[in-house]
Amino acid sequence: MGRHPGWLFRDTVEDSKRLRIDSIKSLLRGEVSGITSTWTNNRTGESFKVDIGWDSGDQLEITYTTKDGWPIQYSIRRLMTPSNLGNGFRYWFQCPGLRDGNQCYKRVGILYLPPGAIYFACRHCYRLPYQDQLLRMKQFDGLPKPQASP
Ligand SMILES: [Zn+2]
Repeated sequence: MGRHPGWLFRDTVEDSKRLRIDSIKSLLRGEVSGITSTWTNNRTGESFKVDIGWDSGDQLEITYTTKDGWPIQYSIRRLMTPSNLGNGFRYWFQCPGLRDGNQCYKRVGILYLPPGAIYFACRHCYRLPYQDQLLRMKQFDGLPKPQASP
């Protein structure tokens, strides 16, 4: 996939809503049965709410309504690895996204919902660059091309 004229205007990680595994620890530990994450746009005052609980198959169940009013509900698998402190676990999302036509299933700590997107997925699925990466690419792009020496 080559660059196209709009590539500089791609969504970045910073524009996206992030769902951090750390923010739902109390749910993962069974201290609460559900968590609501809310994002509020400082400029418009618009807010977006995501409910996270458990489905019947012991997976995380994500529920929200899109900007256009569509009710969305799906499950995301959570993974555990032994923590490097030797006690307890580290938790991860298993990315529910599709990458190049295949299930991603990447183990990630953060899922993203870029503006206009319907589902949370990892930044690899959405090919989200960080803003500073874009800046660096932009700077690089502006440099004169190396000339072949005569
Ligand atoms: Zn992914």
